Amino acid sequence: MTTTPTTPLTEKQTTSVIKRQKTIGYAAHSPETPLAPFSFERREVGPRDVQIDILYCGVCHSDLHTARNEWQNTIYPVVPGHEIVGRVTKTGNEVTKFKTDGLAAVGCMVDSCRTCASCREGLEQYCIPGFTGTYNSEDKILGGVTYGGYSKTIVVDEDFVLRLPENLDPAAAAPLLCAGITTYSPLWHWNVGKGSKVGIVGLGGLGHMGVKLANAMGAHVVLFTTSEHKKEDGKRLGAAEVVVSKNQAELDKHLESFDFILDTVSAAHDINLYMALLKRDATLTQVGAPEVLNVSPFSLIMRRRSLAGSLIGGIKETQEMLDFCGKHGITSDIEMIPIQKINEAYERMLRSDVKYRFVIDMASLEK
Ligand code: NAP
Ligand code: ZN
Ligand code: ZN
Repeated sequence: MTTTPTTPLTEKQTTSVIKRQKTIGYAAHSPETPLAPFSFERREVGPRDVQIDILYCGVCHSDLHTARNEWQNTIYPVVPGHEIVGRVTKTGNEVTKFKTDGLAAVGCMVDSCRTCASCREGLEQYCIPGFTGTYNSEDKILGGVTYGGYSKTIVVDEDFVLRLPENLDPAAAAPLLCAGITTYSPLWHWNVGKGSKVGIVGLGGLGHMGVKLANAMGAHVVLFTTSEHKKEDGKRLGAAEVVVSKNQAELDKHLESFDFILDTVSAAHDINLYMALLKRDATLTQVGAPEVLNVSPFSLIMRRRSLAGSLIGGIKETQEMLDFCGKHGITSDIEMIPIQKINEAYERMLRSDVKYRFVIDMASLEK
């Protein structure tokens, strides 16, 4: 998810003094056209920058929403991708945390104002003037817009680069950079742990990470899915119970019983069905971003329930999530694809036909 920051360029950052280098990627040029090869420029490494050769990039439903302008904020051409894992190829002379040849990761943000109340608390995702998204944001250094991870290389300030635990498979760890943090952050924030009964709605990229993470935090996890055939997978991934949400009688068995529900669904659906399953004073947090969400006031009023939202997670928290995943051996269940299959992957994602995250093998870009 991206915002359009408004902070003006400082003199130091004016585009004329920044050296540029060419790279390649895949871009959407309009909502209707398939993604296709695209040449563009990155900045040369500055003193605090890390240059990364991208090995793997996860495919988030937000990439699709943006490529097709479903949130009406896309600036074309857009190079999506914010679940990035790669190898460091160059570092600026002030960089201390990364070394050439090591692995590094980049998520949904590449910069923020760093001075507002949110940034000072490590909540860069809620940066008041707006963070710089990995793609489709104003590029305050080069001018134009930022381009994401469906590409060969990326150059990022080290403060926005993450360390990958060594025991995790780099391809399967890529989706942690968005799907992982977007589910981890609200689960922590709303105190999910031992003794909590937690519902996860939707078993896609975010949902399957939510199930794994809530289970690792010690919760009793109930998965709600519209896909009958995902029942067994739900249990394998860590759900104690799986409810096929099309069946009202099955939903009714859980009325007023949840401490917390995380809704990851990407399309319009009836959220009131899930609000009714919350205990008094409990919260349903929406992370899925369909164009509209209809909630009845009575879903909230009758049991003093809360409906909340949550956006990815801060940089410090993202590192904590990666370390948590390293400690618990958690990665994403992935299907690796060459970049040439990205348009097909989008269609399959829309049909909920992915187990449970597509990851692009970026070596395919050279072919
Ligand atoms: P995804 O892999 O496509 O998963 C979405 C899941 O939602 C599907 O697998 C399906 O699960 C369920 N679903 C789809 N259509 C549905 C419908 N019509 N009715 C009910 N359920 C439906 O997508 P994702 O990458 O996990 O992303 C999910 C959403 O989160 C997207 O809107 C994305 O933009 C948003 N997102 C938000 C943030 C944030 O910071 N808040 C970050 C990343 C992504 P079942 O088959 O199990 O029903
Ligand atoms: Zn994402
Ligand atoms: Zn800020």
